[in-house]
Amino acid sequence: MGAKSTESVPEYFGCLVFDDRVMKANLSAKVYQSLKKTIDEGAKLDIGVANAVASAMRDWAVAHGATHYTHWFQPLTGITAEKHDSFISPSPDGGVIMEFSGKELIKGEPDASSFPSGGLRATFEARGYTAWDPTSYAFIKGKTLCIPTAFCSYGGEALDKKTPLLRSMQALNKQALRILKLFGNENVKCVRTSVGPEQEYFLITKEMYDQRPDLRFTGRTLFGTKPPKGQEMDDHYFGVIKPRVAAYMEELNEELWKLGILAKTEHNEVAPAQHELAPIYATTNIATDHNQLTMEIMQKVAAKHGLVCLLHEKPFAGVNGSGKHNNWSISTDTGVNLLSPGETPYENAQFLLFLCAVIKAVDDYQDLLRLAVATAGNDHRLGANEAPPAVVSIFLGDELNAVLEAIENDTPYKGTEVTQMKLGVNVLPKFNKDTTDRNRTSPFAFTGNKFEFRMLGSSNSIACTNIMLNSAVAESLKIYADRLEGAEDFETALHEMIKKTIKDHKRIIFNGNGYDDSWIKEATEKRGLLNYRTTADCMPHLLDQKNVDMLTSHKVFTLAEMKSRVDIMLENYCKTVVIEANTMIEMAKTQIAPAIEGYAAELAKTAAAKKAVDASIACAYEKGLVKKLSDLADSIAVKADELEKAVIALADCEDIIKESEAIRDTVLTKMAELRLPCDEAEKVTSKKYWPYPTYGDLLFGVR
Ligand code: ADP
Ligand code: MG
Repeated sequence: MGAKSTESVPEYFGCLVFDDRVMKANLSAKVYQSLKKTIDEGAKLDIGVANAVASAMRDWAVAHGATHYTHWFQPLTGITAEKHDSFISPSPDGGVIMEFSGKELIKGEPDASSFPSGGLRATFEARGYTAWDPTSYAFIKGKTLCIPTAFCSYGGEALDKKTPLLRSMQALNKQALRILKLFGNENVKCVRTSVGPEQEYFLITKEMYDQRPDLRFTGRTLFGTKPPKGQEMDDHYFGVIKPRVAAYMEELNEELWKLGILAKTEHNEVAPAQHELAPIYATTNIATDHNQLTMEIMQKVAAKHGLVCLLHEKPFAGVNGSGKHNNWSISTDTGVNLLSPGETPYENAQFLLFLCAVIKAVDDYQDLLRLAVATAGNDHRLGANEAPPAVVSIFLGDELNAVLEAIENDTPYKGTEVTQMKLGVNVLPKFNKDTTDRNRTSPFAFTGNKFEFRMLGSSNSIACTNIMLNSAVAESLKIYADRLEGAEDFETALHEMIKKTIKDHKRIIFNGNGYDDSWIKEATEKRGLLNYRTTADCMPHLLDQKNVDMLTSHKVFTLAEMKSRVDIMLENYCKTVVIEANTMIEMAKTQIAPAIEGYAAELAKTAAAKKAVDASIACAYEKGLVKKLSDLADSIAVKADELEKAVIALADCEDIIKESEAIRDTVLTKMAELRLPCDEAEKVTSKKYWPYPTYGDLLFGVR
């Protein structure tokens, strides 16, 4: 079903979603109330209600042209997965009826043996099961009703990203409610985190994409020299959007709006051909589903426009990569944003406690935040000279920083008339959003009433980040609640605890320029902050005892699940790089070297022809260039062989950790070495011979 151009946005917004409006209209009051209770409060759903919901869902979906349904889930690698079943069921008269039961809605059993499980599910026991997540609305994609689900093994272990995400939200809810109770907020029933992910991407033409094996096989260019014009003029950022891109964005918005996704902002980014899309924030698990869907639809709509949407973190060397900003906040079902400074002294004390919980969480679990965003692709941004660095730090802004300093030292805060910041007594100054939002280099920035975590790669699922963030903050809150619940004098205990947090964790606060080399030195040498440059460096630390203790105590992961995730993520890292290495070898040997040879042969022929005309012509140009090309070709042959050997040697690694280290230390190094002579050759080889569209073609090709 397509939106008719005559329809206004409010008319077609969410038309493909089985949302609250549809539920209200199509379910009996009793069924609706019961389902609402499940959605809002996590109440158990009985099969009678499930049957009624399933039947209403089927009628609605069939009326919208759907013939199939699928349990839609998020496996550990890849964007999303689905297996389609049709609604049809034979009727006694030889025809069919469209059927869909409550049982089919609640639970599915995909044959999922080929999804990564990291050893959790023996292959002979191929089946896992999917379980409906009623808090995320079902929707129609093409002719299929998609039911958002969690994906588990028969032993109950999570095989997906949604299950631990939901568990982490529960953990944070539980601990935050304890804290709120201490502050006298008795009527809050539920605390949730919200996320607004800002998504960056590149658009290039399909025609050029097809000509580059590196883009087709790996999503990024493995060769290519800088174009004469890059991003140095800063003329693309927020610049006028080109007509073809505008048409793409228009259709993308329409498709997203039909799915109830609140796509809100779109603009050009820093690099040529780079753009950004941001939705209005939503509850974390819904925001996660929506971001996965957004990435999928971005690629689909691009194909319709003869374009390719690149979600890779670093499609072009020397040009800004693509990230994703995870804007995150905590709020109550009564509508209070707990990361927003309040109006009264009491609200402010509560705000400062939640703020401290985040500061403590980020410092204690820097490693978890880093590894939540670790992929081979994102290593090109975080480990390199690009924003943000691999070192996690928090930006608070000068004002808030001054408040914390005043509390820590019991000194007057200059912004107030009072002599001391006494919690629960003094009103905090109003923070100016402009001063909190200015620092664009910080990995984790306070932006007035939310935190913006900027280390995510453009292709990352936001689930992993939010699992770690929610859990780590739940842990801080738990420690606070344990202490405060037993305190004789609440206010004194609160004050002391906030002071202690600031003292113990101020090393993670950094308000300067995160791109500076001197910062990395200070962070690692003076402050003892972690600097895991690659996936191979950080991923094994998931299993550090403190991380296992924290995540298992909040029941976010079991130890077996954590082990399987390390295996899967490292395997994914290794496979990604091996595919890149093999693609490089093939391109170098079968296309780049022959192109160089072809051009050299033409030059030699030209020189010979000139000599035949006049033997005294020096042919210095041809001679010099033939020599240069010939040397480069030799070097390419040597480097390609070395890379090949490095890949073959991986077979000797005894385990996945050793293999990932070999990838980091030898394969990636050899890849960089092979790239050098190839890029050098591109600079001096006639365009007529060069087998690929150049960076200039790719980056400035969409008009
Ligand atoms: P910008 O970063 O361009 O200044 P904003 O900071 O206003 O824009 O918004 C960026 C993203 O943050 C958007 O997706 C927005 O919906 C989201 N956002 C705004 N407020 C919150 C909040 N309280 N919690 C979570 N996300 C939020
Ligand atoms: Mg922002």
